[in-house]
Amino acid sequence: MRPEILFPLFAPVTSLQGVGPRFAKLIEKAAGPQVVDLLWHMPAGIIDRRFSPKLADAPEGAIVTLTLRVDKHFPSPAAGKRPYKVRCRDDTGFIHLVFFRAKADYLKKALPEGEVRVVSGRIEKFGDELQMTHPDHIAPLDDVLTLKRVEPVYPMTAGLTPRIMGKAVTAAVERAPVLDEWIESRFVAKQKWAPWRDALQRAHNPEEESDLLLTTKWRERLAYDELLANQLALALVRQHQRRQRGRSLSGGGALRAKAIASLPFTLTNSQMQALGEIAADMGMDLRMLRLLQGDVGSGKTVVALLAMLIAVEAGAQAALLAPTEILARQHFATIAPLAEAAGVPAALLTGRDKGKARDAILADLASGKIGIVVGTHALLQEDVDFKDLGLAVVDEQHRFGVHQRVILAEKGAAADMLVMTATPIPRTLMLTAYGDLDVSRLTEKPAGRKPIDTRAVPLGRMEDVVGAVSRAIDQGGQVYWVCPLIEESEVVDLANAEARYRDLAQRFGEKRVGLIHGRQRATERDRTMAAFVAGETGVLVATTVIEVGVDVPNASVMVIEHAERFGLAQLHQLRGRIGRGARASTCVLLYQAPLGETAKARLKVLRDTDDGFRIAEEDLRLRGAGELLGTRQSGLPAFRLADLAVHDELLKAARDDATLALERDPNLTGDRGRALRVLLYLFERDAVVRTLRSG
Ligand code: ADP
Ligand code: MG
Repeated sequence: MRPEILFPLFAPVTSLQGVGPRFAKLIEKAAGPQVVDLLWHMPAGIIDRRFSPKLADAPEGAIVTLTLRVDKHFPSPAAGKRPYKVRCRDDTGFIHLVFFRAKADYLKKALPEGEVRVVSGRIEKFGDELQMTHPDHIAPLDDVLTLKRVEPVYPMTAGLTPRIMGKAVTAAVERAPVLDEWIESRFVAKQKWAPWRDALQRAHNPEEESDLLLTTKWRERLAYDELLANQLALALVRQHQRRQRGRSLSGGGALRAKAIASLPFTLTNSQMQALGEIAADMGMDLRMLRLLQGDVGSGKTVVALLAMLIAVEAGAQAALLAPTEILARQHFATIAPLAEAAGVPAALLTGRDKGKARDAILADLASGKIGIVVGTHALLQEDVDFKDLGLAVVDEQHRFGVHQRVILAEKGAAADMLVMTATPIPRTLMLTAYGDLDVSRLTEKPAGRKPIDTRAVPLGRMEDVVGAVSRAIDQGGQVYWVCPLIEESEVVDLANAEARYRDLAQRFGEKRVGLIHGRQRATERDRTMAAFVAGETGVLVATTVIEVGVDVPNASVMVIEHAERFGLAQLHQLRGRIGRGARASTCVLLYQAPLGETAKARLKVLRDTDDGFRIAEEDLRLRGAGELLGTRQSGLPAFRLADLAVHDELLKAARDDATLALERDPNLTGDRGRALRVLLYLFERDAVVRTLRSG
């Protein structure tokens, strides 16, 4: 249960004074529905109202706070759209305050003729005269000191005024209770951090532009709190998992030996080592949760297959879950012959299997006849039962949520879990998504891979590129042509791909060009893919459906249109489709000139290196974590106060702090433990509190 002290923060924003239902909707859109969301809604700028010149010295365009005597009202004429004006003066000149659609009653009260008022807003010039349209503040002289200050400016949505947003946040911050310190006292002292509430107030009361920086003491402290909550939650999940018994799966190695003997290549050292780590984990009576991370083309599928054979050797079954139909089929194509060499029945299950065919597979999974199954989401359906699922492998996990991983694992009793990813998630991000998860990395590429020549070419030189494509296919090579990514619009993506397909088909002949995209019927997509794999088509025009996994060694050219619109990691993934065979490979990044500085830097990174991890780190640096993998799909947590590109040292400290705190007080029952529980609730990571034994 949420601690009572936090109740006021978890009330709806309408509970704040001055926030009615209409503004609540807008505030919710800008910040979130609860009071606590406003605490995390940080100012993006400041308005400095400390400048209070005489009228004669008031520069046009400046924000000023003026002390004025109200001279005379000039109400707007009944007809026409002329504004209501109020003339005011000081001993150096006069100014008109201008109001459109004014309420005369209100203005008469706020600005009584003959009296002195403090007025704050932006100075404008109308001809030779000074004016101020809709002053931000009008107040009696007594309030001059509260007015002459620096105001934070908050990110807003249309319809909100800065005043309402500011008031709502201020009211929220006022509500924040004093909370017991959850950070280790020596660390707080060393960092010279203020207590949580003070840091929060300071962050919302900037006095200079530089007070808004993420590197101030107060923003660092708040970022640390958020990271600590994240790391503590992950550490708790892990602790919980460790407490659950697993099962020991170890086989004699006979099946693995047969499969390895049938491989047309020898395993790389990285593959052997990863396999050793996986085997050791599976052999322990704990539940394995291991990430197999390897750049595109590093050979993860074979490792996964061998791991699955360990489960089968131990008398259990194994399943591999892939994010797309194409990938599931491709994995199955790799795995089936090896499983056959080992004498293990394997099956493929996708959404396309229906009726009797599907029933037969389900029956064989339930009876245990099928040892290894590869599939898509179809594997997650409720009626898919295993006799004894010992190992679940999830490929390209960032497309699956934690939820789906769990569904699959629960189809077995204490099944081990291996998560594979080709996306080189930087260590920083990995920590926030998994905490200290065990990781095996495939750092070597299989022997014989040739470096890829990567070039950035402006779209204006399209003709040259088409010429190069023509030469490549004349020499028996094959080409991927990836069409521009248009954010949020599959329909437009498709139109682009279709137009490019028509162009290239006209040029090279329809038989030599294929088109593949996400809207096609699965059978059509398979046919197109099969024709490309068989070398019947020379050019494959595609939307990004080919991004992950597709393996055609003969393809040696990759053209990416509007490369500047793609993420770096995504470009790297796409490029990883080539350079897999004997041919020298070329990747052409077609870009729309002129490129901005960041876009230039990003394409340069890609030309300079083929190291997926370096590319991911650079991407993080250049773009920030949120965008890196597309936060929506990624399943990675989005932070509101922390920015991993700035605060990664704090992340590491938070991890160590969380680990240590749990070692000392595994159930968070001591003084600091209780404060840490409050922290988890404050950042809404409370689902994990249920894993604790007592409170
Ligand atoms: P990933 O999934 O890591 O991108 P894959 O598992 O699809 O990579 O492997 C890419 C290609 O490399 C496949 O054709 C695979 O058969 C091949 N391969 C895997 N391991 C080796 C190896 N040790 N030596 C040579 N080729 C390998
Ligand atoms: Mg793969």
